Amino acid sequence: QAKGAGRNTLRFFDPGLQAAVTARAALEADLRVALAQNALTLHYQPQVDADGRVTGVEALVRWQHAERGDIAPAEFIPLAEDTGLIMQLGRWVLRQACFQLARWAQHPATAGLNMAVNVSPRQFRHPDFVAQCASVLARTRADGRRLKFELTEGLLVEDMEGTAAKMAALQAHGVGFALDDFGTGYSSLAYLRRLPLDQIKIDQSFVRALGCDANNEAIVRTIIGLAKSLGLQVMAEGVETAAQRDFLLREGCRDYQGYLFSRSLPAAALADYLATAALSASTSTRQS
Ligand code: C2E
Ligand code: MG
Ligand code: MG
Ligand code: MG
Repeated sequence: QAKGAGRNTLRFFDPGLQAAVTARAALEADLRVALAQNALTLHYQPQVDADGRVTGVEALVRWQHAERGDIAPAEFIPLAEDTGLIMQLGRWVLRQACFQLARWAQHPATAGLNMAVNVSPRQFRHPDFVAQCASVLARTRADGRRLKFELTEGLLVEDMEGTAAKMAALQAHGVGFALDDFGTGYSSLAYLRRLPLDQIKIDQSFVRALGCDANNEAIVRTIIGLAKSLGLQVMAEGVETAAQRDFLLREGCRDYQGYLFSRSLPAAALADYLATAALSASTSTRQS
């Protein structure tokens, strides 16, 4: 009887939900094809210090869909996580980023750049992740000391011991760690002293609200102070205005990423950006 009722409820058909399920399945199929055909690209967003020097970049995956145009990572990364495609996607991103790092190492203008790569929880938790990183570093001949993984808080709370051990194994290859989107998770701060993190990235929602809200300013000030007292670097994400940058600088945050400096760029355009940035940095040094 209960079984019959269950079957009956399934007959109540929700066209909206059905459309969403179909669209998701189509997107998944398209993502599979895009991965197989090597149709994704990586763009690189400059990370800038208080002296205007570009110290590194964050690799951000881009997908230009044949019919739909650009699809935001916010749409397809969660899908890739849910379906397990993130393993393949993540491997591709890592390999691509390391190839680029090795290429940059051969030119004086780019040899000093660090590369930040987003690693999703499912990818990080995979038992083969460390071996995979080691093999990519070996094959691309990229310097692991220039590589930094951006992790999110969710990962760190679930299995602190396992995460710490994995981070240590990667650290042995020179890899560093940033905690992405800091302040948006719900976790305790205990992991900050237990995990070998190098950097905290202040989430862009806090940066965006600077100048609008005194409480928000207090939070940003506190994050910067927390990072400093724990001996961690601190970088602000989503810096769009000089006023935001000035506030952050006054409070002691000396590393930034955001549209004020540059959007993410294809590798070739990044080279042009670096040439211009070097010029303006040397100009401002001369002025001061
Ligand atoms: P995220 O790691 O926090 O990356 C920063 C995001 O903020 C990027 O969005 C970047 O384009 C955007 N952004 C940078 N500066 C500004 C700014 O000044 N203003 C505003 N409004 N936005 C800014 P994007 O590229 O759309 O990526 C969104 C998220 O998707 C990333 O957030 C990251 O969580 C994920 N993602 C991107 N690429 C990868 C990848 O290769 N692997 C994984 N696992 N996740 C990725
Ligand atoms: Mg990131
Ligand atoms: Mg972020
Ligand atoms: Mg984010």
